[in-house]
Amino acid sequence: MKNVLNYINGEYLPPVADRWIDNYNPSSGEVYGQIPDSDKEDVALAYQAAKEAFSSWSNTTLEERSQILLKISQLILDNLDELAKAETLDNGKPISLSKNVDIPRAASNFSFFAKAITQFASEAHESVGLQAMNYTMRQPIGVVGCISPWNLPLYLFTWKIAPALAAGNCVVAKPSEVTPMTAYLLGKICNEAGLPKGVLNIVNGLGHTTGQAIVDHPNIKAISFTGGTKTGAQIAKLAAPMFKKLSLELGGKNPNIIFSDCNYEEMLQTTVRSSFANQGQICLCGSRIFVEKPIYEKFKKDFVEAVSMLKIGNPFNTDSDLGALVSKEHLEKVKSYIESAKDFGGEILFGGKTVNVANHENGYYLQPTIIEVKSNQCKLNQEEIFGPVVTIMPFDSEEEVLEMANDVSYGLSATLWTQNLDRTMRMTKRLQAGIVWVNTWVLRDLRTPFGGVKSSGVGREGGFEALRFFTEPKNICIKYQE
Ligand code: NAD
Repeated sequence: MKNVLNYINGEYLPPVADRWIDNYNPSSGEVYGQIPDSDKEDVALAYQAAKEAFSSWSNTTLEERSQILLKISQLILDNLDELAKAETLDNGKPISLSKNVDIPRAASNFSFFAKAITQFASEAHESVGLQAMNYTMRQPIGVVGCISPWNLPLYLFTWKIAPALAAGNCVVAKPSEVTPMTAYLLGKICNEAGLPKGVLNIVNGLGHTTGQAIVDHPNIKAISFTGGTKTGAQIAKLAAPMFKKLSLELGGKNPNIIFSDCNYEEMLQTTVRSSFANQGQICLCGSRIFVEKPIYEKFKKDFVEAVSMLKIGNPFNTDSDLGALVSKEHLEKVKSYIESAKDFGGEILFGGKTVNVANHENGYYLQPTIIEVKSNQCKLNQEEIFGPVVTIMPFDSEEEVLEMANDVSYGLSATLWTQNLDRTMRMTKRLQAGIVWVNTWVLRDLRTPFGGVKSSGVGREGGFEALRFFTEPKNICIKYQE
């Protein structure tokens, strides 16, 4: 059994109430360890440790802070194999993804913010003629809460923690209860890197207990959350009367818009990835595919053929393109969407069935699934499924596809495939999304603002946006005599 403990004040601790939750291996369906079912008392201990560490950490020089974060980054890379295996075991994602994307990106999150903090600056405003000078101080908030989901476990956990620490805050963090393992291993790395005790504290447990206790804690003044839209709404409701600073990165139902003049081969290859990478469990996946009529039939045929070549299997096999879905509950949820397709005239063009993987018969495997739908108004196009399921639909005009792309409650990202510059300019301006990719997908530059509009969230992460979120601006106005 591989058990997880809380990481508080630099030490690994069992939960105060000694209650535990089973942790499943999605690729086999077996319990392989237990994690703390933490409550308010554990969060209180974590807060206390963070509070005590704050005065010293917020006064370290930027150089010192930066060096420690760079060391954490390097140690993540030094332990890449162990971390990648742990991520795949916990989440079911292909080992190739864990090794090449998730863990390297966690390292980059630390190295990026280690450097960004040395370049972060604030403004000065001279009140000309009034003999006064204003400058803005950007001070760390104090103790902040970071709560992350299961789809990109260490990747998103560190995407929050790294800027929070770089800005001089101390952190109480909670990884998803479904995928706690790599966050657990991060504690050891932080100790080895010399991160002072209490600067980062990791509490494990369920959302409505442990997560809620973090949000509810009166002295945890800011919450950075990534997860589902419903959860985001609950957090906002609880935090608003306490006037907490909130960053909410929520769900998506992203359009992938394909015009006939696109670079077809590149579009096809990328669309397979943007549909099914990580079993479609990425908030940025293009789950609504709209194809211009002249190439619709060709695309349908080629896309089905390309997707039929994808290999679903044990995520530890290096040639598996798709591994297991994260949990049995999630598999059931995704299946129920597929089963509902026929209720509104949807036609399954490929997939739709669970897959039996040899020696892993109880794992949560599902075929990549393509459903042709008749209307953007159907449930499959309006609700986030967050699994290996995409819909496809033809369109006639720019105006029509724009209306369908925007006619959804979400607004995280959009992808556009065209070689026409004027169309690119017109459409990128009008697409309701926080991020628009043109002729590519998830090409990330960590300096750019990341986040969504509408029900996809509030606020932006990434680059200086994250450092602004994790600091309070203070205006100092000095009057002087001439
Ligand atoms: P979730 O909302 O169920 O859980 C996310 C985290 O919040 C977990 O750690 C969970 O324990 C915690 N939580 C749950 N209820 C809580 C509460 N009441 N108070 C405090 N914390 C609580 O989401 P999930 O199922 O883990 O992740 C999938 C969702 O995340 C999808 O909707 C996906 O689109 C979204 N997501 C968004 C982004 C983005 O950047 N916008 C990135 C990845 C995933």
